[in-house]
Amino acid sequence: MKAVASIQEIKQAFYHYLEAYFTERNLEGTLKLLSPHMTGFGTALDERGDDIEASRLLYERDISQAPNRIEYTINFLECQQLGPGMGLVRAELDMHTQILNQELTLLNARMTALFCVDENGKWLLEHQHLSQPTNAHGETEAYPIKELEERAMVLERLVGERTQELQDAHDRLERLSITDVLTGIYNRTKGDEVLEQELSRSRRYRSPLSVILLDLDNFKKINDTLGHGTGDEVLRRVGGVLNQGVRDSDVAARWGGEEFLIVCPECELGAAVELAERLRLLLEGHSFGPGLVIQASFGVAQARPEDTRESLVDRADKALYRAKHHGRNRVEIA
Ligand code: GH3
Ligand code: MG
Ligand code: MG
Repeated sequence: MKAVASIQEIKQAFYHYLEAYFTERNLEGTLKLLSPHMTGFGTALDERGDDIEASRLLYERDISQAPNRIEYTINFLECQQLGPGMGLVRAELDMHTQILNQELTLLNARMTALFCVDENGKWLLEHQHLSQPTNAHGETEAYPIKELEERAMVLERLVGERTQELQDAHDRLERLSITDVLTGIYNRTKGDEVLEQELSRSRRYRSPLSVILLDLDNFKKINDTLGHGTGDEVLRRVGGVLNQGVRDSDVAARWGGEEFLIVCPECELGAAVELAERLRLLLEGHSFGPGLVIQASFGVAQARPEDTRESLVDRADKALYRAKHHGRNRVEIA
């Protein structure tokens, strides 16, 4: 009688295990059913749990990689008692699950599970072995070709998603690296890069190129009287006004604290001066707040064949200095 009772208990332990591991995909629940001496083999090359620690890691990895419930049908189950506290279950199962919306089916998977009773009378899994038959292709059996195809599709999908994630992260970083944090327009690094490209293009095609450097007038006063926060807000809005005010082909960048550079490809000095004048009026006329008028001084320079980035911006800077010197809120040319 004792043997029959034990066989029932061993089967119960096996069903518990299937419930926790396959149906619930419950890691904690599954680990509770493992003996401290648990060993086991899964189907993949690296699924060998030589001790309880290795086995735990395999269960953890398996459930985190494929967290969806695994449906199963038991086609065959046999339970043998090997001794007073030891029993063996052999079973064949059809298993089905979804990984990332991808169907996975495993037919007639073979499972061996050895249970031992612990000092509290609880049956725990001592060893388990899962294998897939390779040479028994029934009419309905998907293994091995279909199963391999399904696995390959899942992997392809995983790689695809991972690649997209990496691409997105890369794009985000790239955007960050060229954006001025305060104003959201291009930063000096990007301004420099654009200027270098446009200079070499202008040299190669002998096309005109001009730059506009502008600096807000008496900006210190804004900070001093209205606070740094308002100063920041003004700078943000100035960035927006400039970005909106330039042509599509122009590039506006924050060059320093309250200094901005506009690179104007295909633009002669005269056209760049007109643009600078337009921007000056736009800024002056923009409503930044009650009684708050923002003005700026502008220096404009057209590139010469021998110009470097530095020499071109330097000339624009000298013109800007002259604009300050001549009373501010005006445009000067180099
Ligand atoms: P000028 O007409 O001669 O240009 O006078 P100014 O007061 O604008 O010129 P100055 O270069 O002496 O001062 C610029 C001020 O801009 C000083 C600095 O505190 C302020 N500033 C620079 N960067 C920022 C920033 O990111 N936020 C704020 N709020 N202020 C800034
Ligand atoms: Mg200033
Ligand atoms: Mg300044």
